[in-house]
Amino acid sequence: MTIYRVAVEAPLASLFDYAPPPGSGEVTPAPGSRLLVPFGRGRRVGILVEIATETEQDPAALKAVERVLDPGPLLMPADLALIRWAAGYYQQPLGEALFAALPVRLRDPTALLDDRIAGVAASSAGLAANLAALGRAPKQRQLLGLLQASPAGASLALLADRLGDCRATLRALRAKGLIVDCRLERQDGAPVGVQAVSPDPHPPNDEQSLAVTAVGGAFGRFQAFLLDGITGSGKTEVYIRLIQRLIAAGRQALVVVPEIGLTPQLRERFRRRVSGPIAVLHSALTPSERERNWHLAARGEATLVLGTRSAIFTPLPRLALVVVDEEHDPSLKQQEGFRYSARDLAVRRAQLADCPVVLGTATPSLETLHNARTQRYAWLRLTKRAGQAQPPAISLLDIRGQPLRAGLSSVLRRHMQAEIAAGNQVLLFLNRRGYAPVFTCHGCGWVGGCRHCDARLTLHLRQKRLWCHHCDWSQPLPIRCPECQGLDLRMLGQGTQRLEDELRPLFPGVSIARIDRDSTRRKGELARLFDAAQRGEIQILLGTQMLAKGHDFPGVTLVGILDLDQSLYASDFRAPERTAQLIVQVAGRAGRADRSGRVVIQTRHPEHPLLQSLLKDGYGGFAEAALAERRAAELPPFSYLVLARADAPDEAQPLDFLRQARDLGDGLGEPRVQLLGPVPAPMGRRAGRHRAQLLVQCAERPLLQRFLGQWTAALRRLPKRRGLRWSLDVDPQDML
Ligand code: ADP
Ligand code: ZN
Ligand code: ZN
Repeated sequence: MTIYRVAVEAPLASLFDYAPPPGSGEVTPAPGSRLLVPFGRGRRVGILVEIATETEQDPAALKAVERVLDPGPLLMPADLALIRWAAGYYQQPLGEALFAALPVRLRDPTALLDDRIAGVAASSAGLAANLAALGRAPKQRQLLGLLQASPAGASLALLADRLGDCRATLRALRAKGLIVDCRLERQDGAPVGVQAVSPDPHPPNDEQSLAVTAVGGAFGRFQAFLLDGITGSGKTEVYIRLIQRLIAAGRQALVVVPEIGLTPQLRERFRRRVSGPIAVLHSALTPSERERNWHLAARGEATLVLGTRSAIFTPLPRLALVVVDEEHDPSLKQQEGFRYSARDLAVRRAQLADCPVVLGTATPSLETLHNARTQRYAWLRLTKRAGQAQPPAISLLDIRGQPLRAGLSSVLRRHMQAEIAAGNQVLLFLNRRGYAPVFTCHGCGWVGGCRHCDARLTLHLRQKRLWCHHCDWSQPLPIRCPECQGLDLRMLGQGTQRLEDELRPLFPGVSIARIDRDSTRRKGELARLFDAAQRGEIQILLGTQMLAKGHDFPGVTLVGILDLDQSLYASDFRAPERTAQLIVQVAGRAGRADRSGRVVIQTRHPEHPLLQSLLKDGYGGFAEAALAERRAAELPPFSYLVLARADAPDEAQPLDFLRQARDLGDGLGEPRVQLLGPVPAPMGRRAGRHRAQLLVQCAERPLLQRFLGQWTAALRRLPKRRGLRWSLDVDPQDML
């Protein structure tokens, strides 16, 4: 008897048994294949997980698979193993995990996009054409040159990868009859393509060489590395050299980064230095683009996958190195649906693939640092800035009792003037977008709050609206107080829009640009602002944490950090770690190249131990102290946490449900697993739903995993309640 065990995308933990499709005879598809199966009253896409010889159901009553959708499996055994492991670890139904790992288009029964790839080839006129005749159209010359060198044609994906957007060029060459459209057969194995690699710009320094040698020495076996290198110390250079070595040996590499939109420079650097097609995967691509790039990787053609967190699941048949850049970044954690940490899965993936994994950062997460200190991970350090650049000097500026203009103390303003006069750039960091975070009535104390959340509304003056940053609800700016009809409405506090408006009169004739989520909504705007800053056209750059990530501003010699005091006292136990990382990351943007930088932190709490340890001992010193605190409090990485969340339109329901969950958990009789709560969430209501949470804590991972397996099964058996949603977050990154 042949039974197909199939996963479908549904919140059901179990697999479903099916009989083979009619007429399939002895031939069975490989696990990882997409199937169309009857399900309930309809049909669904399923993924074949395994072939079994028996079933617990009545074999005669089994429905048959309707058909096999694709010529071959989409996921290989190694991919299935990783996803199964992740589903188990994060207590996620296997079906949901499997479908989360596939390109969106393939979750429907659509045909694969890669059967034959769209491409172009030189026509016979094009093959014979003299390139010099295209002299005044350099891009046409370049493109035709590529096609003359590969007469079989090149895929559009490959051309876009090499030349950027070349649609206009293709149109022009088509009109001249020099190229023709073609369909290319997929080529298994050998990368198709054109190599256009710039030579290495400079020899590695000693620390870089050591790092490359250490990781290179682990090729072919599992070993995790922390590449702990200050900003600008040449970590990316280390990744590139390792990847070049692998590609020369015909292997593939996977690089996961937090947010690709913020790092166009990084993408370009890899393009210039790494040969072969690069598959870029991130959410700004269209579903078709993503799927094509995914196939490029899965077929083994892409030499490098560069992507955001979900790229961790991309099939790579010849994977030999995994890199996670900015491993401390919270956005590597998926916060809804299938909640996983791409960083932690990277380590697991490398283990399954018998290859090294490199976690790179200037500010290691305390979890990773702990693994390095206990020698689970090898610890590589880059302590010097590459080239001539000096690290910036950081100082605290006590602003208690100081008059502020535009939120800036007179000392900071003077520093700014001096730098601008010297032709340098200034970066101001304020982690709050909008105009003002509070809008209030001076007469009665009314404060603008969100109708759907327990949160204040932020004033956005340009749009004349009050906005909720948690659910996106907004309302027009009231003219009178809704409570007392009074007219004395005031705004309190400062957001980036207000900072921008108030800076202009203080620095007349100086070009100022704001970078935050509001100012960069339009496509291409972020890249435009970054480019302008890079070219030195902007003298004052102000913005939110978008400025802290990835992008370098070599002309910046002064960084002002305006208002971090709130986060110094936030209640989340990770707040100090996040704040320290943010300060160091922002500081690291400054004074690269040959100009040294200075960082000024304005604060009303100059004596705060976090600021003091950061200043005296740097991030390393801060992290030591923070780890000691975590150990004393038995918090991660010295224990493990799981957060059960529930929400519903009804206020009592989430707490009721979690009380029941707690009783079930207590009933499992495991005293070493502690259940704390339930309590209302820190933001008790969000987008109209009441929220509550229950914390699970345990010092032993295997024990915790066993407990979770039993507990989740029991929770899933509870009768459904209308309107209630619940989820488990294993290793939660925020406790909201
Ligand atoms: P990180 O990734 O650690 O921030 P990068 O790899 O981006 O550092 O390097 C910072 C800058 O220093 C880049 O402009 C890079 O080209 C340059 N650089 C890297 N390694 C060297 C080296 N060995 N010699 C000179 N310059 C280098
Ligand atoms: Zn009022
Ligand atoms: Zn809201």
